Amino acid sequence: MKIMKFGGTSVGKPHRMHEVATLITKDTEAKIVVLSAVSGTTNALVEIGNFLMERRKEEAKIKIDTLQEKYNAFIQELVSTTDAKHKAEEIIKEHFEFLNIILRISYNEALNKDILAQGELLSTKLFSVYLTEKGIQHQLLPALDFMSIDVNDEPQVDTIRQKLNGVLANYPGFVLFITQGFICRNARGEVDNLKRGGSDYSASLIAAAANASVCEIWTDINGMHNNDPRIVNKTIPIEQLSFDEAAELAYFGAKILHPASIWPAQQYNIPVKLLNTMEPEAKGTLIQEKAASLGVKAVAAKDGITAINIKSSRMLLAYGFLRKVFEVFEKYRTPIDMITTSEVAVSLTIDNDTALPQILKELESFSTTSVDKGQTIVSIVGAEIAVHPNTLKKVFDSLQNIDVRMVSYGGSAHNISILVASGQKIQVLQQLNIGLFGLH
Ligand code: ADP
Ligand code: ASP
Ligand code: MG
Repeated sequence: MKIMKFGGTSVGKPHRMHEVATLITKDTEAKIVVLSAVSGTTNALVEIGNFLMERRKEEAKIKIDTLQEKYNAFIQELVSTTDAKHKAEEIIKEHFEFLNIILRISYNEALNKDILAQGELLSTKLFSVYLTEKGIQHQLLPALDFMSIDVNDEPQVDTIRQKLNGVLANYPGFVLFITQGFICRNARGEVDNLKRGGSDYSASLIAAAANASVCEIWTDINGMHNNDPRIVNKTIPIEQLSFDEAAELAYFGAKILHPASIWPAQQYNIPVKLLNTMEPEAKGTLIQEKAASLGVKAVAAKDGITAINIKSSRMLLAYGFLRKVFEVFEKYRTPIDMITTSEVAVSLTIDNDTALPQILKELESFSTTSVDKGQTIVSIVGAEIAVHPNTLKKVFDSLQNIDVRMVSYGGSAHNISILVASGQKIQVLQQLNIGLFGLH
């Protein structure tokens, strides 16, 4: 069995959905097809949720109506028979009635997750209507029946496998399944999600749970590029990456993959392919256990980083100091990305600063702190780059005019990270593109 995941742009227009139908029926291998919401939908749903949170109901209503009109137009081109059009209209009606009911209920977090789930529910159900119209036998699998996260909001492959096998057992003889990316149930049984961009993560978790032959991530670009194509003019696709390399790139900001989407595939050794729906014959990127070569492969950047400098009030970095520091971050469930130390101080970075006030308060009971917001981590990734001759020199030669706030080297053999003010990110990515890849 293989997994094929199609992102927002890949299902973003009726004719794109038609192309997806062609792609998933090209071979006879059994498959689970994971779909994102139609592009723009999740952003619109986030805005609707925000309006409701701020009690701006009229604006929420306008957004809901505009989105509904978009879907009404979408299905006119998606399907052609009266019967299919009728079915599609009923689906749209059902989901928009739900959004309109929510307008009358007072806002809460759980309800907001329900709002966000509508995008993937709509895309998969409408796609299913199209497949039926085309006579393509398939079964729609509700992701909420098998995708789950535990009390710590973490997905567990074993639990998902057990549930998925239970669901699949109801459909012997079926070879084509369609399901929603992104959405899941949490430990309280409520509708939840795997965070923005989470459909990649869904696909990889399902691939691990189903012991798939391959996890194909179909998107709008020819695989992982050596640098961020939204920022740098000249970037080139990478044919092969190891799981370690891909995981570092995803975690440190390469938007093509959800930050956590590699570990399930890596843990269960399932190859991942990044492919382009707009150019299905292009090679894309193959991600598997072994690196194709040593040395620098790509650069990625992660914004929204806060740097915290923590100075021991005893003016000595006595043993026990770091433990006390880490305990504070653990207590507030705030992961640390980068860390550097000196004799008396430690500098570290976090990307989630929701608990920052409480964290600072506790740190200040045994240290003095200072905070720099608006930072960006730029990661240079490639197998064994930490020991690859000259990499570090090339990085710093490329960045002579840049104020580097922190450097992390040697923690991972595959990653060198630097911290810069976000205002310098574009310049850093461009200069590294020239200095490391010779791409102008
Ligand atoms: P999807 O909707 O299919 O999940 P995304 O928008 O989430 O697609 O991811 C694909 C986009 O990621 C590309 O269009 C590209 O702009 C962006 N991107 C950022 N960094 C990279 C990179 N290193 N390689 C390829 N794409 C990247
Ligand atoms: N639709 C969700 C989002 O836009 C999940 C995804 O596309 O991967 O974040
Ligand atoms: Mg994505």
